[in-house]
Amino acid sequence: MDFISTRNAKTVVSGPEAIVRGIAPDGGLFVPKTFPLVSKEERAEMLSLDYPERAAKVIGKFLPIDGDKLLSFCRKAYSRFDGDPAPVVKIDEGLFVTELWHGPTHAFKDVALTLLPYLLTESKKILGKNEKTLVLVATSGDTGKAALEGFKDVDGTFVTVFYPSDGVSELQKLQMMTQKGGNVEAYGIKGNFDDAQTAVKKAFADGSLIADIREQGYEFSSANSINFGRLVPQIAYYFSAYLDLVNAGEIEDGDEADFCVPSGNFGNILAGYYAKRMGLPIGKLICASNVNNVLTDFIRGGKYDSNRKFYKTTSPSMDILVSSNLERLIFELSGRDASLTAGRMESLKKSGTYSITDAELKSLKEDFYADWASEEEVAATLKENFEEYGYICDTHTSVAMCVLDKYRGSADSVNPAVVLSTASPYKFVKSVLADLGEKVPDDETKALRKLESLTALPVPESLSELVNAEKLHTEVITKDEINDAVLRSIRSK
Ligand SMILES: *Cc1c(COP(=O)(O)O)cnc(C)c1O
Repeated sequence: MDFISTRNAKTVVSGPEAIVRGIAPDGGLFVPKTFPLVSKEERAEMLSLDYPERAAKVIGKFLPIDGDKLLSFCRKAYSRFDGDPAPVVKIDEGLFVTELWHGPTHAFKDVALTLLPYLLTESKKILGKNEKTLVLVATSGDTGKAALEGFKDVDGTFVTVFYPSDGVSELQKLQMMTQKGGNVEAYGIKGNFDDAQTAVKKAFADGSLIADIREQGYEFSSANSINFGRLVPQIAYYFSAYLDLVNAGEIEDGDEADFCVPSGNFGNILAGYYAKRMGLPIGKLICASNVNNVLTDFIRGGKYDSNRKFYKTTSPSMDILVSSNLERLIFELSGRDASLTAGRMESLKKSGTYSITDAELKSLKEDFYADWASEEEVAATLKENFEEYGYICDTHTSVAMCVLDKYRGSADSVNPAVVLSTASPYKFVKSVLADLGEKVPDDETKALRKLESLTALPVPESLSELVNAEKLHTEVITKDEINDAVLRSIRSK
């Protein structure tokens, strides 16, 4: 399968190259030249497979990696999860949650980032590349830790993470500060996630920085969801959740299921759109936002406008005003018109806005529905779900639960729906306790224990141990110091 750029029709690369490069030289994002289909017969065969086998089937459609090898990568990556990487839990009639947070860092980013190092290393091998890979990550909290954990001590790689110093939860910050490994570095950035993401994108394209790191034997790559290698493992869990519903007798193969996704950078839900294009019978993809509701406005009105107030919320991984992966969707909506997409991205850069046509908006709405939840609604939904169903979820998942309710209130008929649960409630323990109406202990350990005693869900050991772990990465820098930090970190190791 070849890959093309969203911004230049002439850019064509192989799958391994798309993964190694991360971003196209013209600044665009790599997308598959066509969407490979998974037929009904193939789905039937996948019913009896376990998660790594299902994932290898889906990912194998895009990448020229030998099937047995790919399966062994998936097995190794997903052995780091506590049981099934994407179990589907029934909450109520027609309401399901797929919990994507049973991996090493307790957020859904693990599903992709435990596997990406294998895909990247194999891609370099296929291309005959000997350069080391410097993975730069801008994170709103969860990607950073998952990338550090996924790449730590992987030969031929170095990971440098930048996170908004005041824009992540305490546990998220501790997770990054205490990361062990000989090839990792994490910095706090003064600013918000969009500042970090913009600065990192700039570093990727900085010719003199590229030359400087090349002198040290490195080439850049990205572990953000702009890298197709991040998206492709995420497509698999849509298939797996659907197959689980069929296996459980909740739907028959061919019936539609809706998916509701707490969205920030639009990577997770875009993977669902790709699954649909590959033939999975998805009804609506429901895009859930918090009060940073730029995606809601776009999907409803066709105008993307990032010129708005930025709010810090209790779902910080969704506090984003510039959703990178939307570029891939508008490329599809435009009929794959690279120059039109490039123009819109230029307009986004210059004025913070772009618009799509009425015809494009109409087609967008056939696949997507969007709404958002206020902080009060997120809290009320989280508490109600716990009281009514005995189900405790994190704040991000609660955004999606709330928006699904709104969708169902407005729709004529509804399909069975799967909410993607993106983080363990313990990862955002203080917000979860507050939403439950509990007194929140200052002390993190006490907060973890308190939620445990309320819910009987065991605290993950790696979170309870954090508080006493040694802080290895404590530096906070401005976005203008990123290039310096990049060079310093690789020189020091
Ligand atoms: C990253 C993240 C999201 C948003 O996912 P996108 O792919 O950026 O849309 C939602 N919830 C949690 C917990 C996350 O870590």
